[in-house]
Amino acid sequence: MMAAARILRGAASSLLCRSRQRRDAAAAAAFAGVCSRTMASKTPVGFIGLGNMGNPMAKNLVKHGYPVIAYDVFPEACKEFQDVGEQVMASPADVAERADRIITMLPSSLNAIEAYTGPTGILKKVKKGSLLIDSSTIDPAVSKELAKEAEKMGAVFMDAPVSGGVGAARAGNLTFMVGGAEQEFAAAKELLGCMGSNVVFCGAVGTGQAAKICNNMLLAIGMIGTAEAMNLGIRLGLDPKLLAKILNMSSGRCWSSDTYNPVPGVMEGVPSGNNYQGGFGSTLMAKDLGLAQDSATNTKSPVPLGSLAHQIYRLMCAKGYSQKDFSSVFQFLREEESL
Ligand code: NAD
Repeated sequence: MMAAARILRGAASSLLCRSRQRRDAAAAAAFAGVCSRTMASKTPVGFIGLGNMGNPMAKNLVKHGYPVIAYDVFPEACKEFQDVGEQVMASPADVAERADRIITMLPSSLNAIEAYTGPTGILKKVKKGSLLIDSSTIDPAVSKELAKEAEKMGAVFMDAPVSGGVGAARAGNLTFMVGGAEQEFAAAKELLGCMGSNVVFCGAVGTGQAAKICNNMLLAIGMIGTAEAMNLGIRLGLDPKLLAKILNMSSGRCWSSDTYNPVPGVMEGVPSGNNYQGGFGSTLMAKDLGLAQDSATNTKSPVPLGSLAHQIYRLMCAKGYSQKDFSSVFQFLREEESL
């Protein structure tokens, strides 16, 4: 009630600007939708895209007492949910007809466009006031477009991509980077908090994606740099564990050197110690770097190292590393050098 009154006060103070008035009225209407959603907080939540990440995320919602109404283009992906009594629908539109809060976790921008605006997409049957949260990693420009389309139908769209892989999705300690109308953040957090330990508001719609792709571009550059430095040091006769120790007490230290070292045998419990199985696949890294390139082009931002990192990961995918963890760039460099 207090928050609703704040919004009304905001609308009253903007009488001089007609367009601003319209925006505030739309926000107030959407907020009224949020109030009814929040009051019925354990009503079913739609979940679309039950793959490596979506499956454990949806299970965590169930664990927190939210019935899930599920859909995936791949029927086998829904079977587990059907077996434990959750509802499975025949299309995203059917999910939207039954749930006023929906989370999507899809591979790419194209899949998200299809799931939201396709012939049987969410927006075909979305209820007014519905909250639509897309946790896929996609182009921020696409998130903004989907938000506009959702608004036309009286629904609210937020982008909330995640950091953390399948392990974090299972453990429920993902980080969500959320973009959208700030007054909707509390409603989004109620659900995202069941699947993650950090839920961070980033700003307007698309800024969650922006934070995600900037982080992953830096991560890729850091990982390639770490792999290069480790490889050079080993070729110069240094013991890899000793070199890692020195880097980690020096200015070259970074997450890839001290937490996720790419050299087999340097650390326990990381993909480099397990033939680069598990973790974050090179193909996903190549995808995120491609999104960073598109965004850099759109905003005329120079990203020379990001471009090079993108090409390196694309080359790795072409040479059989696509399913290996992205730290396998170390192995890739070793093999390239040995030619
Ligand atoms: P995935 O391929 O395992 O799962 C995606 C699921 O979406 C599949 O089950 C697929 O059948 C389904 N799908 C595709 N198009 C659909 C549509 N139109 N309607 C309904 N379902 C559809 O992918 P994932 O690893 O779960 O990743 C999902 C998203 O999370 C991606 O955007 C990825 O970049 C991001 N992400 C992944 C990781 C990771 O470690 N896997 C980490 C962080 C972020």
